[in-house]
Amino acid sequence: MGHSHAVSGALLFAATAPFLPPVLNMHLQPADVLMGTVLCAGAALLPDLDHHDGTIANFLGPISKLLCRIVALVSGGHRHATHSLLFVALMGGGSWAGITYLGRNFTIGLTFFLLAMAIQSLHLHPPGDGPQSWITVMGLAALGTFGMLEWLPSAPGWLPYAVALGTLAHLLGDCLTKQGAPLLWPHKVRYEVVLIKRTGNKVETKVLVPVMTLATFALLLWSTTISPTVLS
Ligand SMILES: [Zn+2]
Repeated sequence: MGHSHAVSGALLFAATAPFLPPVLNMHLQPADVLMGTVLCAGAALLPDLDHHDGTIANFLGPISKLLCRIVALVSGGHRHATHSLLFVALMGGGSWAGITYLGRNFTIGLTFFLLAMAIQSLHLHPPGDGPQSWITVMGLAALGTFGMLEWLPSAPGWLPYAVALGTLAHLLGDCLTKQGAPLLWPHKVRYEVVLIKRTGNKVETKVLVPVMTLATFALLLWSTTISPTVLS
């Protein structure tokens, strides 16, 4: 499901980017939109910080596995507190506070982590879990982080938005599956509209993911190339 979550995050950012300039009172460059789309895809994995065998858990071997187990313990297990609107606010607010008060080092760390998540879940690296694939992920994430710091503002206003939106995209995706998500946690009610009976089934992999991928590319092409004035 990591791949589907990432694609849905990318789609939501690409679709909403043209509405950002008036709200954030800032002008977006095409590079902002492309970077935001990729980082939002990475952020769409954040709720699975409570999963002991997800993309995040496997990122840094035993260290990240332990971290995810601790998060699961504290948050009540898989698909509990980290699958709520409160967590969306926490991630968005936390990124904003980190960027604002901790500055550049926080932005570098956050960008690198989200890029690594996006590259892995969008399968932009050689297949397999070997060292070669891990080194490629790290290398590409480092390159992307360097590019972002070089060509984009050091505290991009859209970054906390991308983090919150990606987290939200994950919750919406999980609501389409059985078990749903406890959006209003600590209320225990789970919200679900079951469109995907089993994760990884044909509706998801053969219809939803390809349609979302195409729509993302079409939206990016439109807002960055065909009609870039929507970003100003
Ligand atoms: Zn989930």
